[in-house]
Amino acid sequence: MSKAQREAATRARRDRVRAEAAHTITEGDVPDVTKYALIIAFLSGGKDGQTALRVVADRARASGRLDRLHVVHADLGEAEWEGSVDLARAQAAAAAVPGERFHVVARTITTADGSRVREGLLTLVRRRGAWPDATNRYCTSAMKRDASAPLVTKLVNWYDPGRTYPGPVPVLIIMGMRAEEGPERAAKPSYRRDPRLTNKRRRHVDLWLPVHTWRLADIWSDIHTSNVPYSPVYDSTPGARDGLGLRRHSSRLCPLMTKSDLVASARRDPETAAQYAAVEAEIGHDFKHGLPMAHIVELAQNPDANEEETERGALFEAPSLTTHALAARR
Ligand code: SF4
Repeated sequence: MSKAQREAATRARRDRVRAEAAHTITEGDVPDVTKYALIIAFLSGGKDGQTALRVVADRARASGRLDRLHVVHADLGEAEWEGSVDLARAQAAAAAVPGERFHVVARTITTADGSRVREGLLTLVRRRGAWPDATNRYCTSAMKRDASAPLVTKLVNWYDPGRTYPGPVPVLIIMGMRAEEGPERAAKPSYRRDPRLTNKRRRHVDLWLPVHTWRLADIWSDIHTSNVPYSPVYDSTPGARDGLGLRRHSSRLCPLMTKSDLVASARRDPETAAQYAAVEAEIGHDFKHGLPMAHIVELAQNPDANEEETERGALFEAPSLTTHALAARR
């Protein structure tokens, strides 16, 4: 696909996504949570998701709807940091979501003999022969969205076993994306219908990004105020509380990560980086455009490498409470 074709496809995708903002259950930029039969928050264990969960839990509690809030962790298997499931469970419990409403989903595929088996990210990449990138994040849809679709169906059936609900059951999905993370995310309406999970007869699914406008500093301010556990990968060493670790938690190594984060991640987990480099060599496709995993591994082995990026100290800068961020929680 040429650059012009890629840009046209991106524009068309943005237009489609923007149009979905006109079809939500309630009007405006912020949903009325009382109008939803189910609220489902996705939680990787990362920083933005845990604050987004607190925002929606506060709203649900204030309107007596906390019992409708479920939390889903999409288990990425070997691609995610150890302890992510337990961390997400602890964050859900801190938001008063009990174990029976905390769900773990994982991608499964049907093998040639008809049995269902789990498929991890590396196997998926090998099968496709290419790594995901910013314009084709097939891993997100395969490992998270598609893996959770059966659970959404199950929860809708659990809520309305007799299928007597008048019209499609209204479901609100919560995610922790923020505009600051990049132009693609900034362009998305923070409250919109999810056409892929919506099924005209059975369920209407809207998506809300409660921390879409939040600044990074506000997220950290909220996390430190809450005292809820956060991923140790954000710190230089577990417990340091210095914000000198990675910027992202979800996957150990992601083509969307910055070079410095990739090198830092490969230093923390050289074994996984070596596995990724082996898959890269096998499929003949660079992990990240212009930055092969083989080079990341080399940089990780050189203690003097990658000193040019020093901006990560900004993680814990003073909160910019000029945004409506924290106020939106109440
Ligand atoms: S974090 Fe990166 S590698 Fe992991 S699922 Fe998301 S886009 Fe894919």
